[in-house]
Amino acid sequence: MPEKQPSPHLPSDLPTGIELLHNPILNQGTAFTEAERQLLGLCGLLPPRVNTQEIQAQRVVTNFRKKPNDLEKYIYLIDLEDRNENLFYRVVMDNIEEMMPIIYTPTVGQACVEYSHIFRRPRGLYISANDRGNIDRCLQNWPYEDVRMIVVTDGERILGLGDLGAAGMGIPVGKLSLYTACAGIHPATTLPITLDVGTNNEELLNDPQYIGLQQKRVTGDAYDELIEEFVTEVHKCFPRAVIQFEDFANHNAFRLLKEYRDRICTFNDDIQGTASVTLAGLYASLRLTGGKLKDHRFLFLGAGEAGIGIADLIVSAMKEEGVSAKKGREKCWFVDSRGLVVNSRRDLAEHKLPYAHEHEQMATLLEAVQALKPTAIIGVSGQPQTFTQEVVEEMAHLNERPIVFALSNPTSKAECTAEQAYTWTKGQAIFASGSPFDPVTYDGRTYVPGQGNNSYIFPGVGLGVITVASRRVTDSMFMAAAKALSQQVTEEDLELGRIYPPLTKIRAVSANIAAAVAEVAYSEGLTDEPRPYNMLAHVKDLMYHPDYISFV
Ligand code: NAD
Repeated sequence: MPEKQPSPHLPSDLPTGIELLHNPILNQGTAFTEAERQLLGLCGLLPPRVNTQEIQAQRVVTNFRKKPNDLEKYIYLIDLEDRNENLFYRVVMDNIEEMMPIIYTPTVGQACVEYSHIFRRPRGLYISANDRGNIDRCLQNWPYEDVRMIVVTDGERILGLGDLGAAGMGIPVGKLSLYTACAGIHPATTLPITLDVGTNNEELLNDPQYIGLQQKRVTGDAYDELIEEFVTEVHKCFPRAVIQFEDFANHNAFRLLKEYRDRICTFNDDIQGTASVTLAGLYASLRLTGGKLKDHRFLFLGAGEAGIGIADLIVSAMKEEGVSAKKGREKCWFVDSRGLVVNSRRDLAEHKLPYAHEHEQMATLLEAVQALKPTAIIGVSGQPQTFTQEVVEEMAHLNERPIVFALSNPTSKAECTAEQAYTWTKGQAIFASGSPFDPVTYDGRTYVPGQGNNSYIFPGVGLGVITVASRRVTDSMFMAAAKALSQQVTEEDLELGRIYPPLTKIRAVSANIAAAVAEVAYSEGLTDEPRPYNMLAHVKDLMYHPDYISFV
């Protein structure tokens, strides 16, 4: 039985007895040793046999695999997280490929749809429009003082599922679990928050079990004032916290990012994290196609948060290659639900305008591909099967190694499947998808599709920012993160067609990203922390491990 780690600092107000067993951060259940049971008032409260964490983990994994469906698996894991966080992270980290799709996309989407019906125990903070003027009191009720990472949603655009109101809480909860599992950010420093401003989802409003405010969404000045109070109070209560805005609708996401990115330490993962993971995939693709980013022409299907965010970062990355922003934007084209984004259109939202080029309208994506001759098509439309056989074959006709990224989540929304991409291009496609696809064998060769999911990026970025207490999160950090991620792709990965490293390496990947991000904080003068001698070693030292500590 491996020894428990001696704790460097035990809390002075360590709870005992049943209170200890009900504390998910400290609870070890049957792994409390005889000596700990004597000391901590646990005698009689546990079955007599002491288990190792390893045995406990075996029990969890066996039960997990017996669950009849993914939603039941989700409920089982969240219950474990509520009882014993170390054990939860032990099993998630040791089985990341199997469990990540359960605690995060795609299953978390289904969990959010069902959230009010599977609700057991609150997790995180619910701040509603009725708390206006009192948000500080809600924040002060949070039991942990040293909050470093906040994920907040207003539930208006949960994944591709739309307005789920307060039931969107599954997303901040799931995302923060990944910050811990993938990058070792201590769970006690993370805080999921839902800003419940109502919902316009009639089904939820008519559901007696719905957990959120039973009213239409607050909008306009009242909405903005609530956000402003929230941001201000968070800054007062948790001055070292990063605020990650998550799954806000387009009309708020872009303007909130613009409003706050230079005022507080914040970022929007849907826009910037997605951009970074896609840029990483492109950098890795360049190792297969040769050439530079500026040699490519990108055609996006979907001009929302993901698409515009990716294009903006590609333009920044091209600037590093000596291309002006104007010329860079000219290499990025968009098709949205109403056709090609061109400057003659009068229906374009503000965020699309920089990419509205001079061109005649095209009726279909295929026509756009034929006319614009892109080297890469990037699907971020949430519309399944929109990369048709004709479109993908045309890409293969135009390019020796066409880049085909079908990034829409969940799997059922992907613009095309991995099998289609490889088959229709006779194995030439450099393919990535948002949700995982199984390996594909085509013409005797096996291809392992890369998963271009932002979970490769945001945990490492968060860790880097926290490690050096950076005052801001900048685009250069996302660019550095993209480079660091692409550098973790080995020649063997590329040989298999994989442009992202396997998820099993995610902690090492996140540590490298964090070190790169922290370096940017120093070079941009955003931190006052003393510079460590070896940044990567420093980052690794700070990472949380789910091993039990000894209380005696
Ligand atoms: P969004 O709502 O902001 O944007 C969607 C865009 O798609 C809009 O511009 C819309 O006009 C366009 N669109 C809708 N129907 C279309 C059609 N038939 N043809 C062309 N365009 C159409 O959403 P978003 O945040 O940009 O996300 C879009 C998709 O990308 C989602 O499915 C999401 O799951 C996925 N995504 C994946 C990742 C990842 O890590 N892989 C990250 C973020 C988003």
